[in-house]
Amino acid sequence: MMPSRNEIQKRVRRRDWLKNVRDHYDVIVIGSGLAGLTCANILGKTGRRVLVLEQHYNFGGMATWFKRPGGHIFDISLHGFPVGMIKSCRRYWTSEIADSIVQLKSIRFDNPQFQLETTFDRQDFTQILTQRFGIAPQTVEAFFTAARAMDFYDDSRMTTRELFQKFFPNRTDVWRLLMEPICYANGSTLDDPAITYGIVFSNFMSKGVYIFQGGSDKLIRLMKAELRRNGVDLCGGSTVERILLDHGQVSGVQVNGRRIGCDAVVSNANLKTTIEKMIGEEHFDRNFVEQTRAVRLSNSSCQVYIGIRKKERLEYIGDLIFASTWPEFDSAAMCSQHVTSRTFSMYYENTRPGCDRYSVVSSTNANYDEWSRLSKEDYERAKQHLIEDALNGFEKYVPDIRQKIDHVEAATPLTFEHYTRQVKGATFGTKFEGLQVSMDLPKQVPGLFHTGSVGIIMSGWLGTINYGVIVANEADSYLTTINLRRDRQGACCRNAE
Ligand SMILES: Cc1cc2nc3c(=O)[nH]c(=O)nc-3n(C[C@H](O)[C@H](O)[C@H](O)COP(=O)(O)OP(=O)(O)OC[C@H]3O[C@@H](n4cnc5c(N)ncnc54)[C@H](O)[C@@H]3O)c2cc1C
Repeated sequence: MMPSRNEIQKRVRRRDWLKNVRDHYDVIVIGSGLAGLTCANILGKTGRRVLVLEQHYNFGGMATWFKRPGGHIFDISLHGFPVGMIKSCRRYWTSEIADSIVQLKSIRFDNPQFQLETTFDRQDFTQILTQRFGIAPQTVEAFFTAARAMDFYDDSRMTTRELFQKFFPNRTDVWRLLMEPICYANGSTLDDPAITYGIVFSNFMSKGVYIFQGGSDKLIRLMKAELRRNGVDLCGGSTVERILLDHGQVSGVQVNGRRIGCDAVVSNANLKTTIEKMIGEEHFDRNFVEQTRAVRLSNSSCQVYIGIRKKERLEYIGDLIFASTWPEFDSAAMCSQHVTSRTFSMYYENTRPGCDRYSVVSSTNANYDEWSRLSKEDYERAKQHLIEDALNGFEKYVPDIRQKIDHVEAATPLTFEHYTRQVKGATFGTKFEGLQVSMDLPKQVPGLFHTGSVGIIMSGWLGTINYGVIVANEADSYLTTINLRRDRQGACCRNAE
């Protein structure tokens, strides 16, 4: 029998999670999100002694899943990522992980401006934009070329709205086709820098949308096995309270009331929490503190998990359905508690080969503040409303859905905050300005690094894995430098003797 949630919590509290850890590591990674795990894996592979500390008993952060009685298993953030994941996983993880990544066949749009089905790649989008929306082929080509050429070092003043206006003036139907999925994928709006749009959109357009076959549980299981093979120590149930400094330099962490020494810390926890709570603003210069305070968080999410009864089937109706009743693309309306736009992610029996179960997850972008200010009763009512609304919306695609299900529940921004400690349940970390703050952290406190969802482009499964790689290389160089310095100091002392 599956243990109750209370029983699990009791077991978590009773266990000594830090029983087998050493007193000192080269690097401690705080958090087991995809960025933290990837960073730890690379450092472990290069021979560094690495410890991952995760406050939850499960690993993966937002790349997670949960089980419910009746054989249900729901994925939280497994809806789609770009093809680049295959290369990143093969290079920085294992072939088994890379080989489990499969393409989604059909992405549907259903809104008052248009209804269409696409493979969500450049070729299909070119055809849709030219034939269906009547855009000149050379304009489409010029747009793709401009988006493809964008990178982080470009001028970030042009907004996505200005980019769209330049290529497709006042064509809000085209803007919707180009923007709605990206808004779901990273919470960006028309007012964010165009480069954040261009980079993410081009990643998807290259070859379509992919997911991990076998589910998030299989992915994290394989990642943990690879981390162990590379000598990385893994501890769940371990909440880091403070990052410790010695003469302004990282010297360890305080976790579950115990001190563990290290030469470097990579925090995969929320950027603001890392700076403001785990270290303290007094250890940074004033400009940096101001810059950190000015970092805006991305929006959060709501989800409704719909479990199909054993032996019931769902006919194939597409993999992702972007369903909206709102007249035009509008990122504020997409976050509203009064939901008008949602993505239905379909999990058929082949999502987890060997498991003949189906489920549907309805996701919407959401504002934390709208949910956090509700009384307990209103919160429960609002959740119920969310569930009813999602089922009503889904009846359009599967009219007898209510007869096929035996489990349904909802998550809100408060749920995401609770499980991942992302401030305000931010689904995609921070807005663009957060990336500079994250990258500048080691200049402020030697030995302190941050990796994880920031700056829009470093969010999502692919963005965070790639950022984990970048930060692992930086932390590795830092460790090499301090070890060389120590060797030189040791040699000086020996010569002096
Ligand atoms: C509803 C939803 C849908 C999504 N859909 C998609 C999608 O379809 N495609 C896609 O690419 N991306 C999607 N994402 C985004 C993607 O899941 C995230 O961008 C990515 O997983 C974040 O990884 P991360 O490494 O930044 O950190 P997180 O996953 O946030 O992990 C941070 C970890 O740090 C731990 N932690 C925090 N504080 C402490 C502490 N003090 N001590 C110890 N541990 C700590 C947390 O428990 C957590 O495990 C979605 C996200 C959500 C919420």
